[in-house]
Amino acid sequence: MTKIPPNPHEVGALPAVNSDTGAVITPEASTSLGRALVVEDERTLAGMVAAYLSRAGFETDVVHAGTAAVAAVRETDPDVVILDLGLPGIDGIEVCRQIRTFSDCYVIITTARKDEVDTLIGLSVGADDYLTKPFSVRELTARVQAVLRRPRTVDRAHRAEPQTVWTFGTLRVDPIGHEVHLDGKPVSLTPTERDLLMTMAARPGMAFSRRQLIDHVWGGGWVGDEHLVDVHIAHLRRKLGDDPETARYVTTVRGVGYRMGRG
Ligand code: CA
Repeated sequence: MTKIPPNPHEVGALPAVNSDTGAVITPEASTSLGRALVVEDERTLAGMVAAYLSRAGFETDVVHAGTAAVAAVRETDPDVVILDLGLPGIDGIEVCRQIRTFSDCYVIITTARKDEVDTLIGLSVGADDYLTKPFSVRELTARVQAVLRRPRTVDRAHRAEPQTVWTFGTLRVDPIGHEVHLDGKPVSLTPTERDLLMTMAARPGMAFSRRQLIDHVWGGGWVGDEHLVDVHIAHLRRKLGDDPETARYVTTVRGVGYRMGRG
């Protein structure tokens, strides 16, 4: 595994300056935005992505194979994994499945085949976003920043509704502990499913369009098929035991999108 520290002082970036003292902040003293793991077997691309993320302020680790990726997630506990699909050894799908058994870090899958994205969404491997190659490293960095901004949605929601736990019938949603219980039992959700539920639960009376849910959960700059929302909602409903026709928790608002049900 190659470790690359955050390096905002690389060519092209102005040094950060402490506004009180006027002193230049050294890279060691500057705060990391988070930890990223790049899993990519094309070494040139891996190096480029890692350098860009490092320049954007992330502590970045790089591995080039699937088994090394799973080990690296255990070791470094990253906030976000940029995961190539075609890898030597175990492929990206299997890596994602294995990661999901012990980590709820954000996963962005990159793939050279556009048609694979639909299949992947259907397989529900637990990835939070997808990017088709070739992508610009700038766009990838924007996606990384967008997924890492997600918890703020919950913070905003919580400020608006100062309760520690939201209850919908026998469904309990804890926006601070990020936990969901149904009939007293914990429900295991992917980060995306959880963020969708938290967004709707924070505004129980509001009907959300697919676009609004995308803006809240994926970030305003996300461009892609809004059908992605329906797929994640379908998985969420299945985990909550919700029948689409008579849904108690995630109800369909015809012509609009979805709304939190009363339970
Ligand atoms: Ca590859």
